[in-house]
Amino acid sequence: MQTQLADWIRDTPEGIEADAILRKCVHCGFCLATCPTYNLLGDELDSPRGRIYLMKQMLEGAPVTQRTQLHLDRCLTCRACETTCPSGVEYGRLVDIGRDLVEEKVSRAPADRLRRWFLKSTLPHRGLFSAVLALGRLARPLLPASLARKVPELKGDGSWPQARHARRMLVLEGCVQPALAPSINAAAARILDRIGISLVAVPGAGCCGAVAFHLNYQDDSLAYVKANIDAWWPHVEAGAEAVVVTASGCGTMVHEYGHLLRHDPAYAQKAARISAMSRDVSEVLAAERAAIAQLLSPEKAPRRVAFHSPCSLQHGLKINGVVEPLLREAGFTLTHVPDAHLCCGSAGTYSLLQTGLSQQLLRNKVNALESGAPETIVTANIGCLVHIQSGTARPVTHWIELLDARMQ
Ligand code: SF4
Ligand code: SF4
Repeated sequence: MQTQLADWIRDTPEGIEADAILRKCVHCGFCLATCPTYNLLGDELDSPRGRIYLMKQMLEGAPVTQRTQLHLDRCLTCRACETTCPSGVEYGRLVDIGRDLVEEKVSRAPADRLRRWFLKSTLPHRGLFSAVLALGRLARPLLPASLARKVPELKGDGSWPQARHARRMLVLEGCVQPALAPSINAAAARILDRIGISLVAVPGAGCCGAVAFHLNYQDDSLAYVKANIDAWWPHVEAGAEAVVVTASGCGTMVHEYGHLLRHDPAYAQKAARISAMSRDVSEVLAAERAAIAQLLSPEKAPRRVAFHSPCSLQHGLKINGVVEPLLREAGFTLTHVPDAHLCCGSAGTYSLLQTGLSQQLLRNKVNALESGAPETIVTANIGCLVHIQSGTARPVTHWIELLDARMQ
């Protein structure tokens, strides 16, 4: 694609990056077939190619309107288009740049601004979010069923082994996951402990920064990123092997730390190192399969399992076919899931901001997951887990908890 970026953006770091991405797009339209919003709405402007064109127009100096904002807001940032694109267009990075610029140029309605501010001010703060959630759980019996389903029960085993091994890995604790399901990181810690690795949660580290970043509070987001790097760095220097993430949405963000801080002289090097050593928990366990096989106890967990691979795992981190063999080797039968490349509609705060589209995607996803009659649905990201659970009566859990149960 030929480009002629406007003077105000051409020589900035964002302009140079956006230009390089735009030039890779050859308008072929292959990406349309796998875009969930194009599938639902059938509008070119709700496809990757259409959104790329809108961003190109803006970067070339055309007036930016609420129409541009609407079509970028409707994008899930699922990055299915990146997986499909034969030309290697890094759509996710382009849309981050595009959204930031649109936010500067187009003001939002007061109610929309307030909603977004509220989300970025509560979700990343673990204590505050826990308090809101506790109130929601108390009020659950009084809520309409549609709302009550969105307030998950506290469940699972949160016991965490003492750090006792020479091999150590750090864990991203996150913000909403410890409040919604503390059992997930605890299950990862117990599995790793059994194979000789201590998983360490470092005080001072918390939210990965993704919630604020995707709501276009990019400065707030970088403050979370730097706080995590500051908290982890002494442990990295002391020999921690990896930063382990059990929520693939957060893992995608940590993977981007190096890119986000590449122009920051105080953090660029450290951020690049943290990104390079970040691992989804599936990658860590895949490297330890022989040790895990020794520890599996006779089966007592459900056998038929449907695995929902989050977009952040399959398209963001490009981790495919790693969880499934771990589950099969542990004795589970994985049911077939049609259209497994499509988003469930959770997508961070998307389910709260674009409820109509999100609910349509949820219905389609639940139908696909239930089509193989699984006893349990498993996934790898807390956002997808809670969202899918709100649409099905079947239990939905993180796959790591299922594996942990097979080792007890
Ligand atoms: S598939 Fe890639 S090159 Fe083709 S239109 Fe989509 S983004 Fe552009
Ligand atoms: S990120 Fe997802 S929703 Fe957005 S344009 Fe790409 S495929 Fe469509």
